[in-house]
Amino acid sequence: MKNVLYLYFFLLLICSCTSASKSTRTKPLIVATTSILADGIQVLVGDQAEVIALMPAGVDPHLYKASVRDLDLLTQADLVIYHGLYLEGKMTEIFEKLAKQQVLIDVSNGIPSDQLIRSGPELHSVDPHVWFDITLWSAALTYASQELQIWQPSWKPQLETNTKTYLQQLGALDQLTRTKVQELVQHNQVLVTAHDAFAYFGKAYGLPVHSLQGLSTLSEPGLRDLTELISLIQTYKVKAIFAEQTISPKALQAVARGVAEKNQVVKLAGPLYTDSLDAPNTPAGTYLGMFETNLQLIYNQLLP
Ligand SMILES: [Zn+2]
Repeated sequence: MKNVLYLYFFLLLICSCTSASKSTRTKPLIVATTSILADGIQVLVGDQAEVIALMPAGVDPHLYKASVRDLDLLTQADLVIYHGLYLEGKMTEIFEKLAKQQVLIDVSNGIPSDQLIRSGPELHSVDPHVWFDITLWSAALTYASQELQIWQPSWKPQLETNTKTYLQQLGALDQLTRTKVQELVQHNQVLVTAHDAFAYFGKAYGLPVHSLQGLSTLSEPGLRDLTELISLIQTYKVKAIFAEQTISPKALQAVARGVAEKNQVVKLAGPLYTDSLDAPNTPAGTYLGMFETNLQLIYNQLLP
């Protein structure tokens, strides 16, 4: 893989077609890795640039491998923005190589390191799902906005205006989330999901969260994970557990069957949108819409 990548980047460097297609563009092209990130960046830059999400809606970023077409798109871009914190687990090498010839922004640099949730001392043990704490996501986008202003100084006034307006919208959603989740907490509810994407949500809004798989979907859940989750659902008399749009519901279906064998009923609800937005022009097709769709689903299913 390494050699193929080197060869590919070498060929792109010596190929004049890249600069030709760049020059025919009327607006700068920004490529953001995930749909969640691309949505936020498009809001900030407005119509000053075209923003494309590298990973289409519904794609799991933990498992995503860039295709040759993707490498072409990344090289063609005037700016590449990525999430960082090893969310794009299989693209680290590509970012390192791109950085030698391209402007890159890693939005996770905007999040204070003491706010990050870690499961161990290793670099990849940081939980990347920071967008589920609206305050942290606001910090990441504020950082992106500042970096964009350095990259394109003439965009500063519009970037500042758009960022201010968007941060107000995010703040309002944060308040709504606090109110709704507080109600669930008063009824001793816990959130059970397919993979560990909601730790920041749980920490920020005070709701205990549990999942079948870890921080990444790279590892498969084992029998012990299944048994532990089933007994937790029994203990807390959990009404509903939540499938995720980017993950097969099979393992959670097994959990629901396991609970049924213990003569208790748990509903398999969802899907929650965790690591990707829904398709464009749908209710969960933007970050604000995705967050609110998840919030309503969790609230409606867990409220006794
Ligand atoms: Zn994830």
